[in-house]
Amino acid sequence: MSSIKQNIEQVITQIASATEKCGRDADSVQLLAVSKTKPIAAIQEAIEAGHFAFGENYVQEGVEKVQHFRDTDHSAALQWHFIGPIQSNKTRPIAEHFDWVHSIDRVKIARRLSEQRPANSAPLQVLLQVNTSNEASKSGLIFAELPQAAADIAQMPNIELRGLMSIPEKANDYDSQFAAFHALAEAMNTLKADHPQLDTLSMGMSGDMDAAIAAGSTIVRIGTAIFGARDYSNKA
Ligand SMILES: *Cc1c(COP(=O)(O)O)cnc(C)c1O
Repeated sequence: MSSIKQNIEQVITQIASATEKCGRDADSVQLLAVSKTKPIAAIQEAIEAGHFAFGENYVQEGVEKVQHFRDTDHSAALQWHFIGPIQSNKTRPIAEHFDWVHSIDRVKIARRLSEQRPANSAPLQVLLQVNTSNEASKSGLIFAELPQAAADIAQMPNIELRGLMSIPEKANDYDSQFAAFHALAEAMNTLKADHPQLDTLSMGMSGDMDAAIAAGSTIVRIGTAIFGARDYSNKA
């Protein structure tokens, strides 16, 4: 059995080799350890290995973890990213506990997060989730909706739009993976004309990290390769 510490080292090595291949700096890509469904002890182990950025998908579970690690060693360095689907009646605990939200798929959610962000917290850092395959069944904005959504969010006081996120359709070949990620990167470049502060592309998971990094990813979201397979039996 490999340990969480070894797994993190391995993923960091993989990021370093992927960035080297395309002439980027290794530290231009942040590793987000996706800890959904995993126990506090697993996160603790990752923290002891020196890793501080975690992604969670479920509101209640995520909030419990954020609260657990508040006032512990390293709590000031910890970064909590919400990356799961968001129901509009669940925005308040997200606004109150997380540092980043990757999964904004409609302006209404952004507006609620801005209204509910506590006054004494730094602005919530947000990404628009984009449906790069235009499949009706997938969540996310389509490309044509991005300019208006970005313009609306730019007016909101307590959130800061930082970029785009996508979970593309599974593709096993590098070229199709790259094409979907490249399209997201191009969409952000276009938005940057009006929103020059945009600097974050959350794209790439275990199976498609190399293509995502070649296309410009700045955050890769890795769960299984760090924490092992997930057990969803209590999530029905
Ligand atoms: C679960 C999840 C991941 C991590 O997936 P793995 O296959 O375990 O690496 C990344 N991004 C999102 C949005 C997820 O929900």
